[in-house]
Amino acid sequence: MSFFVRMLPGPLVKVFARPYVAGASLREALAVVESLHEKKLLSTMDLLWEDIHYQDEVDAVINVYTQMIQACAAYPENWRPTVSLKPSSYTTKALQRGEGMDAAGSREAILTFSEEAKAKNVGLTIDMEDHHWTEWTLRLLEEIWAAGGFHVGAVLQTRLNRTREDLERIPPEARVRLVIGIYNEAPEIAITDRAQMKVRMLEYAEILLKKGCFVEFATHDERVIHRFLEEVVPEAGVDASRFELQMLYGVPREGIQQQLVQGKLGALGPVSVRLYVPFATDWSLATAYCKRRLLENPQMATAVLKNLGRALLGRK
Ligand SMILES: Cc1cc2nc3c(=O)[nH]c(=O)nc-3n(C[C@H](O)[C@H](O)[C@H](O)COP(=O)(O)OP(=O)(O)OC[C@H]3O[C@@H](n4cnc5c(N)ncnc54)[C@H](O)[C@@H]3O)c2cc1C
Repeated sequence: MSFFVRMLPGPLVKVFARPYVAGASLREALAVVESLHEKKLLSTMDLLWEDIHYQDEVDAVINVYTQMIQACAAYPENWRPTVSLKPSSYTTKALQRGEGMDAAGSREAILTFSEEAKAKNVGLTIDMEDHHWTEWTLRLLEEIWAAGGFHVGAVLQTRLNRTREDLERIPPEARVRLVIGIYNEAPEIAITDRAQMKVRMLEYAEILLKKGCFVEFATHDERVIHRFLEEVVPEAGVDASRFELQMLYGVPREGIQQQLVQGKLGALGPVSVRLYVPFATDWSLATAYCKRRLLENPQMATAVLKNLGRALLGRK
């Protein structure tokens, strides 16, 4: 599969990527945010620009994020998009590149965004990258929370074995996105069985809800969503103001999304659904990003192909 992905020409990757990428400018991405709002869906915006090697790229990414925060602030509070950001986007020394890399600049950039977002009442989420970043990101979150940055949320990956302990250090009342994790991690530090990752998602969601956190339950697995709503939420004794469901823009889950937002699933009434809306400033960046993700996680290629097939056959 990885040979196949590597050989894919850019224009073909664009065909695969198009349903999942909300355009090649901030303006196009905002139009998507507005169209999602018409379907009662919330958004979190993300710029696709990774694998950064030069300072002028860092400066360009920072500039777009500053514009994003400003643009989000202009929307009404009840459906204002949040902003998702990746620490490796603000440094030429990304930690996953190994020895001598110190993420120089990332902390300062995120602290600046945090200040700007706080002043404009925009929520931020620091995405979780691979295991090189886990400790770095959690420490930064603790620093931001200690300084009153309660608008900044975290992401925890259930595949990592350390996550069970990391739950303890998450501040009560913090906003936490729970995911299985996109990065293939070594068996020494993570589990590889997806079913087990999802069992952990349910367990950890309950722990976080009970300790007072706002849980962003991010999965496309409908069986796991049902178990979350029917088992975890009643067990934690919380109402729908304490969590939301999250999915990626473009993954075909319109049926369950509408059932959730219209309150037709279970007895909880309407449940918020937020889509992760990635966009690029140039299609070449979007296709490079998609290729890297397919290489990191070839199972995703299978999922994308399956979804494309279902879409072509007109099935949801
Ligand atoms: C809002 C959001 C934010 C995320 N943020 C992070 C993060 O910060 N760090 C991180 O490591 N991971 C992140 N992820 C990715 C996450 O870790 C999983 O890799 C991803 O959600 C797939 O897992 P799943 O629970 O949907 O289950 P899976 O078993 O992987 O997927 C269930 C089904 O969903 C469909 N599907 C899932 N993903 C895709 C896709 N990309 N394209 C097409 N179809 C798909 C397929 O039909 C698949 O069979 C995020 C995911 C979401 C939804």
